[in-house]
Amino acid sequence: MPIDHPITSVPMNALSRAIERDRPALEAAFSAVLDSGYVILGPQHAAFEKALAALVGVDHAVGVATGTDALELAMRALMPDDRSTVLVAANAGGYSSTAARRAGFSIVYADVDPTTHCLSAETVAAALTPEVGIVVVTHLYGLLTDLTDLVELCRARGVRLIEDCAQAIGAHREGRQAGSWGDAGTISFYPTKNLGAIGDGGAIVTDDAATAARVRQLRQYGWADKYSIEIAGGTNSRLDELQAAFLLTRLPLLDGFNERRREIIARYVEAAEGTPIQVLPADSAAHVGHLAVAVSSRRDELRAALAAVGVATDIHFPIPDHRQPGLAAAPVSLPVTEALASTVFSLPCFPELTDDEIEFVCAGIRGLA
Ligand SMILES: *Cc1c(COP(=O)(O)O)cnc(C)c1O
Repeated sequence: MPIDHPITSVPMNALSRAIERDRPALEAAFSAVLDSGYVILGPQHAAFEKALAALVGVDHAVGVATGTDALELAMRALMPDDRSTVLVAANAGGYSSTAARRAGFSIVYADVDPTTHCLSAETVAAALTPEVGIVVVTHLYGLLTDLTDLVELCRARGVRLIEDCAQAIGAHREGRQAGSWGDAGTISFYPTKNLGAIGDGGAIVTDDAATAARVRQLRQYGWADKYSIEIAGGTNSRLDELQAAFLLTRLPLLDGFNERRREIIARYVEAAEGTPIQVLPADSAAHVGHLAVAVSSRRDELRAALAAVGVATDIHFPIPDHRQPGLAAAPVSLPVTEALASTVFSLPCFPELTDDEIEFVCAGIRGLA
């Protein structure tokens, strides 16, 4: 660490660094939109949808305004006519629950697997009811969880599977990308996500032409054609032309970002050996290291110790959905979810961290006793 610029703290994020790094490309993208005169669903948007579908390896990508809208519109497009309940995990930040509520669907919570922190065929099977028409599996923290058994279970029960890939874009397993396993995948381009916009953005990816067509209608008032409202439940949720142009410039950088995130987490895993925290590994292409998550039964005390030496931390997520007053869920017992909510916390993890900053965090971790 250079003597003249000693590091005294490391933040959870620093979006200005990515903006500075990408400024020339972002300004060129901005100019291209101004030059084109198209500001809604224009050529940049079309090019981005195409590039995103290619990245995920599916036939269709549909841009929408946010990741939460992507979830809501995917739910509306996929819910079977005779059902009205969505099954979700309660440890994934409340986004799926918010989307299901907005779509007017009931919610059933299933517990998560203690190792992956994600839903599994086993936990879903234990919570399925005949009313459940959609399961949303969130690839939490960047882990494309193994969906082989869950895909099979959903097929057998006539249930549609949505993958929430907000934290896992670019993750792949057995040659298949996150978002290409279920009936649809949803993505967020919120600025801190692995592929971040300069504002809000989202998308739905799917191989099914009918689902894609339905989502295209729903994102634009339910229109069949201009001013002809054909289907119910539509809204205005389009991906902004400028955001699409910005995202196109960053798309080719995604694999490098994801690799850097995995590197950072590997360093933390090593530093945590013999300390009171365990850092969840991100050691394969199935994990894109969206968050560096540590687990400890002494969380609050250890977070305070890290804060005291200048290492910022956060909790993803502190209150499970079924305990959120605003979601008004029926009482349910989710022992693994509840245990994890009181033991997980996140360490700084974003591609623009310097090597010295990573070492600073590692020193903080090694100092935990
Ligand atoms: C960020 C996030 C979302 C929501 O995305 P927005 O674009 O912020 O609406 C959904 N699910 C998960 C798991 C997320 O992390």
